[in-house]
Amino acid sequence: MRSLRHCLRPWFALAGLVFCLLAQAAHPVRQAGNVTGFLEQAERLRTADHGRFVRMLEQLHRETPDLSPGEQWYLRYLDAWQASYQGDYDTADRVLRGVIAHSGNVALEAKASALLMSNLGLQRRYEEAFVLANRLAGKLPAIHDRLARFSVLANLSQLLALAGQNDLALNYARMMEDTLPPGETSCNPLTKQVTALYNAKRLSSSGTELQRAIETCQAAKQSVFANAMWLVLGSLYLDEGKPDKARAVINQAAPGIAAGQFYSHSLAAKVELAQAFQQMGQDDKALKTALAAVAMSSGGDLSGSLRDAYRVLYEVERKRGNAAATLAYYEQYVAQDKGYLNDVSARTLAYQVAQQHVLTARLEAEALSKQNSILKLQRALATKAAETSRLYNMLLLVVLFSIVFWLFRLKRSQLRFMRLSRLDGLTGILNHQHFICRTERALQQLNKKVGHACLIVLDLDHFKLVNDTHGHATGDTVLKRAVAACQQQLRPVDLFGRLGGEEFGILLYECSREQGMDIANRIRAAIVEAPVSKDGCEIMVSASVGLASTATSGYGVQRLCREADAALYRAKRAGRNCVMGDLEVANALVQA
Ligand code: GH3
Ligand code: MG
Ligand code: MG
Repeated sequence: MRSLRHCLRPWFALAGLVFCLLAQAAHPVRQAGNVTGFLEQAERLRTADHGRFVRMLEQLHRETPDLSPGEQWYLRYLDAWQASYQGDYDTADRVLRGVIAHSGNVALEAKASALLMSNLGLQRRYEEAFVLANRLAGKLPAIHDRLARFSVLANLSQLLALAGQNDLALNYARMMEDTLPPGETSCNPLTKQVTALYNAKRLSSSGTELQRAIETCQAAKQSVFANAMWLVLGSLYLDEGKPDKARAVINQAAPGIAAGQFYSHSLAAKVELAQAFQQMGQDDKALKTALAAVAMSSGGDLSGSLRDAYRVLYEVERKRGNAAATLAYYEQYVAQDKGYLNDVSARTLAYQVAQQHVLTARLEAEALSKQNSILKLQRALATKAAETSRLYNMLLLVVLFSIVFWLFRLKRSQLRFMRLSRLDGLTGILNHQHFICRTERALQQLNKKVGHACLIVLDLDHFKLVNDTHGHATGDTVLKRAVAACQQQLRPVDLFGRLGGEEFGILLYECSREQGMDIANRIRAAIVEAPVSKDGCEIMVSASVGLASTATSGYGVQRLCREADAALYRAKRAGRNCVMGDLEVANALVQA
């Protein structure tokens, strides 16, 4: 009995795979009010009244031009179902992949995926099936359509049972019970639960789960599922060493199994019966029944049932001492066992590979998302750095601008102070110090190019009297008026400075002595002709002027000043309001 549990797994699981597709409950046919209703009706009838379903499909195809895109996808899904039913997996798979990729309908996509997953399992394309199972399991929370969800859960449970993932299979089977579509019973979910528990060796013949499953499926008239459950019970009795009970159960289920015409069930029932006879020591019957099982088997059968049939045969023949027959059956047994075990390991391996794919994909996704986060951070940092540097640049510009602005203001006030410090406060002309300085520079230039200049020194006559008579303020006005009168006679190249009090100096640049004397006279006359009016009377003022020329006194400023001062002194002596030159000095000296 060691191998009995194992031998039941594949046929039962594959049978379930097929029948979970067929498990949609039959509904009374209703008059379809619209195309979608007609499609839904066809879907519900596909197992209950398969002939009608096929006719409805044909009718729908005649009306295809009138179908909306959504209805056309629905029809394609039903076509794929029909192709799967007929074993045309290539057509079915192609159509189903189209529905999954392009229908844009979550429920339809889920149902198509579940069907495709089932087909892949039936074709022993386990790796693809498990990859799809993983994808579907991930999408499960988004599948709300009850029929689609039920279908997905059933197929997931079935496929995971194939991979020996019994806890997961049980879990999905229990979830099926919570999402029963309208008209569906607990038969399908319960059989899935029993399968998972059986595979996990957590089921006994007296277990309530099995009893519940049998009763529910019988009540629902789902005979295929009920037969499967009877076979599980028979197998459990055999495991428990209760061949009588096993035989009784199989005999009880036999008519239903025969009516079902389902190869896996018929074969399993025969093998279980042979095993029961063997356990009861009825070797003849065991041999006969096992031979009948082998005779009905199809080529390429990898199920454990056929292997167990050969096991019964070689064990009985060995017991009888038929060496040749024992060896022949043993070889068959080994070949069958190898095929079965290969299939089991192929499924387990495929499951592991698919899990590995998922793990790798998750790791890659995590690595990608980490890379993305790093890139995002780098981008954010770069943006921040750019912002900061922009801010710094702006700050720098503001600071630079402020510095330049303050430097400019500083320079401007410096220049203003410098200019002010060089000018006379009252009259606005050069002060004494600066006048001498500029005169010195100008004389040097003239000395180099051998040009001539005249230095004029003028002093207002009896100015003290003006102050005394009209007040100091009026004296200031007279001073300014006299300065203005002088300026009108001067050229831009000439220098004009206040030497002190009411005494002024003028350097006539590039000017001969004769020209100088002429200008000096005009200046003197201009001062006289510019009286200041006050209180209705005019305040007249005159000036005495002394002139020295570089032609006679040289380019030394001190000497020129001295000579001009001396000439001025002589002008004062000569009665004031007149001009004296340095030559007049000579004449005066000669006359003296
Ligand atoms: P002289 O013809 O001999 O030069 O006689 P004067 O009165 O002009 O000469 P004096 O040197 O005796 O007097 C000069 C006067 O000039 C004395 C002073 O009050 C006046 N003075 C000097 N600087 C200023 C000034 O800035 N404003 C006014 N209002 N008067 C000034
Ligand atoms: Mg004076
Ligand atoms: Mg004077």
